[in-house]
Amino acid sequence: MVLLRQMRLTIHRGTHEIGGSCVELCSNSGHTRLIIDIGLPLVNADRSPFEWNDYRNFTQESLLADRILPSIDGLYLGGKPLVAAVLLSHAHIDHYGLLRFVHPDIPVWMSIGTKSLADVSNVFLDTSVRLDMVKTFAMWQAFHIREFTVTPYLVDHSAPDAVAFLIEANGQRVFYTGDFRGHGRKGVLLDRLTKAPPSNIDYLIMEGSMLGRDDGLYPGEVDVEEALYDLIHRQQGPSYVFTSSQNLDRLVSIYRAVRRSGKLLVIDLYTAFVLDKLSIISPSIPQFSWDGIRVLFSHYHAQRLAEQDVELLYKYRRAKIEFEEIHSTPQDMVLLAKDSRYFRNIILKLKQNGESIAIFSMWHGYLERSDLEKFLKLCGIPLTEVHTSGHAYVSQLKRLANALKPRFIIPIHTFYPKKYPEMFPNVIQLNDGEAINLS
Ligand SMILES: [Zn+2]
Repeated sequence: MVLLRQMRLTIHRGTHEIGGSCVELCSNSGHTRLIIDIGLPLVNADRSPFEWNDYRNFTQESLLADRILPSIDGLYLGGKPLVAAVLLSHAHIDHYGLLRFVHPDIPVWMSIGTKSLADVSNVFLDTSVRLDMVKTFAMWQAFHIREFTVTPYLVDHSAPDAVAFLIEANGQRVFYTGDFRGHGRKGVLLDRLTKAPPSNIDYLIMEGSMLGRDDGLYPGEVDVEEALYDLIHRQQGPSYVFTSSQNLDRLVSIYRAVRRSGKLLVIDLYTAFVLDKLSIISPSIPQFSWDGIRVLFSHYHAQRLAEQDVELLYKYRRAKIEFEEIHSTPQDMVLLAKDSRYFRNIILKLKQNGESIAIFSMWHGYLERSDLEKFLKLCGIPLTEVHTSGHAYVSQLKRLANALKPRFIIPIHTFYPKKYPEMFPNVIQLNDGEAINLS
């Protein structure tokens, strides 16, 4: 075996796309290998949307043959486990969606919030992620995996408890940003990181989702709250806000806007469960039991939850709202909505109650993939988009790069790696699966 003199880096996927991130670092000795993120792709080779349902029944071998699973020796079920650990940056499916294929003897490190969301997704979204080998880390506390020292940095992102990793071995320091931004409710984290950055970074592996993308609509999460308030507070009928129940910042913005309007926020059981599970990371996360929040029980969600823990159903029943109550005072109601048959039925039933509005508070691309806009138009309900991106603006990417002063920058999680050299010095562009020695 050739003895390596440096850490060895392979980006298995993500050098030329957003989604499916998977990075490998191998120590000098060649004996210790780490995998950082193991995500589902978001796009196919032709950039059309990737649909997991098309592959759901594929065997592991077929997924490897189709390059959905990156070819990584000693990582997967059925083989001999040769990877020391998997590290997850956050609970977005394009960063952990393939975890179910990882050999169960390989420890998986993540934040407490990431574990909570993975738990929730197992119950409601059939993600089938095994969580028995999970180890959780504390923010900014270094831990060791054989020759590696890993320090997680809490970052601002649309997924709560997301982290960047400082990874050290053999006298070299690599900083992997994961997904981050500086304009969410935890934007101060980017300020702190850039004011007191880790020193002597050799390689910065930095996301660039926003390159070539105009996804802002609103500059930051605070502006989103104001826009929501403007729309909601003068409403004479029900308001429907379509958003992800795992985008905690957005749920907080919605809750604050609804409270300022003196209205009631109606969430579903799934959202109540997400918030409950996340209460472990902060006491200031809105809960089903708080003033101004009620919970709508759908048969499907109640059944899912009952299979998990029937006590939870009894617990959430304290805040249960019946449809009749919504129907009798629709002008007081803001419903956290999903693009599902269940919610479309509710919208249809409340239609005669006059002036409704719909707010789409997610990435615009999701709207393009659905016929929701058409459905709302048929119902005569106007739709407004209110959103801010979960990813760093170019100015924020530059702030981080200027602060960390890495010797080299490696693009990841971007469709435009070629734009990096226009903005940053010493860029090394890799291809998926290409291994380099970090000199
Ligand atoms: Zn993300």
